Amino acid sequence: MIQYSLHCANAHDFDAWFKNAAAFDEQKARGIVDCPVCGSHEVSKALMAPAVARSGSEKMALSSGHPDVAKFRELLRAYRQKVTSEADYVGDKFAEEARKIHFEEVEARGIYGEATRDEVIALAEEGIEFAPLPDLPEEQN
Ligand SMILES: [Zn+2]
Repeated sequence: MIQYSLHCANAHDFDAWFKNAAAFDEQKARGIVDCPVCGSHEVSKALMAPAVARSGSEKMALSSGHPDVAKFRELLRAYRQKVTSEADYVGDKFAEEARKIHFEEVEARGIYGEATRDEVIALAEEGIEFAPLPDLPEEQN
């Protein structure tokens, strides 16, 4: 999966996921890439955001075009901002710290950081609660 920051002919900025660079070109050519704000099909790539490391064949559920998609992105942005301003950043020790908190080896607190895909799978199997922290580019306007 690859994430593109797109902008439309009416200067709206939004993000969309595509299977690969060719999929974006193909969907744009077919006129099915549209702006979630105004529905314009006149969209172009702004800049490439770092893609989430996933296996190339894994599918994600996606939505586009509905007005609530833009609202949801705003909620995600607010959620990310709240978590990153209130929780402790633990960097790549996320899995280790989440485990310590889960097993009450340390005092309970909010944390955020990074984990590898293998670590994420292990945490889920151990029944440790966590949630993805969406990585959204800053709003352009
Ligand atoms: Zn637009």
